[in-house]
Amino acid sequence: MSKNKILEIENLTVSFDGFKALDQLNFSMDTGELRVIIGPNGAGKTTFLDVITGKVQPTQGRVLFAGRNLRHIPEYKIARLGIGRKFQTPRVYLNLTVKENLDLVCNRHKTVFSTLLNRPSSSERRNTSSLLSTIGLEAKANLQAQLLSHGEKQRLEIGMLVAQSPDLLLVDEPVAGLTDEETENVGALLLALAQSHSIIVIEHDMEFVRQIARQVTVLHQGSVLCEGTMDEVQNDPRVIEVYLGKKPSITPHQMKMLRIVAAMAWSDGYFAPEQEALILSRFSQLLSTEAQPEELQQELRNYLAQNIPIEELVTKIESPEERELILKLGYEVIKISSRTPNEPMINQEEAAAYEKLIQLLNLPPEVVKRVEMEN
Ligand code: ADP
Ligand code: MG
Repeated sequence: MSKNKILEIENLTVSFDGFKALDQLNFSMDTGELRVIIGPNGAGKTTFLDVITGKVQPTQGRVLFAGRNLRHIPEYKIARLGIGRKFQTPRVYLNLTVKENLDLVCNRHKTVFSTLLNRPSSSERRNTSSLLSTIGLEAKANLQAQLLSHGEKQRLEIGMLVAQSPDLLLVDEPVAGLTDEETENVGALLLALAQSHSIIVIEHDMEFVRQIARQVTVLHQGSVLCEGTMDEVQNDPRVIEVYLGKKPSITPHQMKMLRIVAAMAWSDGYFAPEQEALILSRFSQLLSTEAQPEELQQELRNYLAQNIPIEELVTKIESPEERELILKLGYEVIKISSRTPNEPMINQEEAAAYEKLIQLLNLPPEVVKRVEMEN
């Protein structure tokens, strides 16, 4: 056991009438880390949190929180030890204002009535006002919580959790059902909190995971399937298989090339049908697989549906030949969406993405020139 681990989980098994929701799970996390846990439905994510918070007792194995074994410690005591959990649906007092909700948890020893009747002391006020600014709800401090948007409620509840100064924050699907803008706000809030807290986020939304994730753990059938950066995890064939329900027909490497070229087509926010057709036909030729052509095309379409930033993808392409091939395909994809043949690269966003691709690929200018001449 090491001191800087906030959480260590060893051979954890949870059986429900013989069914193993968690199966010999091992997991560890450093103090101060922000960790995202993903996995298909039924993977055991919620059960995992239930064990950490003491809601469910393990059948086997143990959970160490800052070195302390949590076995047989009741749920309310684990919360007092410094583990705070945010559930999926916001649990705020709807008829109280934003500020009153925060005051309640900032003064935990008081009852609801005494908090409302007594004037808070100045240190308590300072606490609440800095929290209000952290969660970005200063302007709505005196608004009833029921008037907040769903995303604002989520942020308020995260604020209420933080007010209890937990050492470890557990957050279950914080952006489910949120608008893109609110998703970004919640992401920014979690990143800000990560500077002074250890946080576990359980999440389905891949775009969101990409926004916040440094280290990702993938759960599957009650065990850890793999861990790594978002880039490593999303290109791992085992992860794709689990999410897709079948083995991918192409290698992780081919997948990466495909996604780089797709990123070119996505760069203006519109994946044109002719771009899709071009990519599918080029890659069908390039790949030697045993998959049926139509099935392969359908599968490739699924991979294309994700817009992944090229910076994440290009860095790990080592071979110059592959870099050149990517440049060629990227160039073709940009060109095909131009409106007329005489106006190549009329689309500014795609042109900019292509310039960025050239930079990232770091190919000599003469190679770039040749590729463009030949195509
Ligand atoms: P996730 O949150 O990843 O979707 P869960 O942890 O909710 O997965 O569930 C993991 C598996 O354990 C599922 O197959 C689920 O049906 C089962 N399970 C969860 N809780 C119970 C329970 N109290 N009794 C029986 N089975 C359960
Ligand atoms: Mg769940």
